[in-house]
Amino acid sequence: MSTGVVRRYMRAIRAMAPGGPDVLTASDLPDPRPGPGEVVVDVAAAGVNFIDTYRRSGTYPMPFPHVVGGEGAGTVTEVGEGVTDVRQGDHVAWLDGSAGSYLELATVAARHLVPVPEDVTLETAAALMLQGVTAHYLATSTFPVQQGQTVLVHAGAGGVGLLLTQLAVARGARVLSTVSTDEKATLSRAAGADVALRYDALDDLSTELPRLVREITDGEGVHTVFDGVGRATFDASLASLRPRGGLALFGGASGQVPPLDPQRLNSAGSVYLTRPSIGPYVATREELVGRTDELFAEVAAGRLDIRIGARYALDEAADAHRALEGRATTGKVLLLP
Ligand code: NDP
Repeated sequence: MSTGVVRRYMRAIRAMAPGGPDVLTASDLPDPRPGPGEVVVDVAAAGVNFIDTYRRSGTYPMPFPHVVGGEGAGTVTEVGEGVTDVRQGDHVAWLDGSAGSYLELATVAARHLVPVPEDVTLETAAALMLQGVTAHYLATSTFPVQQGQTVLVHAGAGGVGLLLTQLAVARGARVLSTVSTDEKATLSRAAGADVALRYDALDDLSTELPRLVREITDGEGVHTVFDGVGRATFDASLASLRPRGGLALFGGASGQVPPLDPQRLNSAGSVYLTRPSIGPYVATREELVGRTDELFAEVAAGRLDIRIGARYALDEAADAHRALEGRATTGKVLLLP
């Protein structure tokens, strides 16, 4: 017997089991309804991030199947009970929605949403959230970049890399970067890097990169290394620091760094090592909105360039993952539902 209720379905990309990009499967799921404190958003763009690949592959524990993605931006279509500060039609963005973002209609807790100003497009907002907030907390809170410092940014043409370079230069630092192609070197320099080093061309990255860094810095080494590449670059990063310098190991695009002996920090010159993740840097709503407001204002003022390197249809999510993991991307990768 028909109930008279027309059920609607939306497109969603799920990881069916831990594995490579092939486990990503397009499905039709019932349109969501917001629970208490939640909002449903018509997704204009979903961000593709390394964390999505770590969760898809099983590197970070997740239930399976799960709808992939954490980041996105769009227009509010429905608000749940108890939501007072968000309305239907609002433009909003989020950086780690727990119910997935590779879908047409996302369910997000209202407290995780930030308002997107009128002069910032939804694509730009989606592109800015996770990588922008990461670059912001690294440059302003983890090891606050100061006028006159020299810092090393690995994967300088990547999503975080391009933003972090711009923020560090704006704070008065000289930026050295690493990149794997001439095109990436050009992009990194356009973002403000003084020197873009081709780390892929080195026979022994661990010894040759620090040597190059010391040559460029008159033997001194850099104040800070921002390392999201991880396993492949970690030894070089430690050896590139000046005494009492800081290494922010914020990711493992090349693989996770194995356990290490604290004595290595001693012999590297009493250096500081931290392995930050975004959660503690946006622990309060004030901190989250404070960071995104600042970033949106920089974009609107034309002082922060957001490079969207690739756009894919939702059903092409596996190709987007292959490109990101295969070092074939620059700047931000978006899925457009
Ligand atoms: P990117 O756009 O920077 O892509 C990763 C880049 O890493 C590649 O383009 C590539 O640049 C470089 N790379 C070097 N070796 C490898 C390898 N073996 N496989 C793949 N890539 C490699 O990604 P994101 O900006 O999104 O993220 C950068 C890092 O930051 C990731 O490790 C991510 O997990 C981390 N991250 C951490 C956060 C945190 O809060 N801790 C938040 C957000 C991201 P090239 O070709 O020039 O070498």
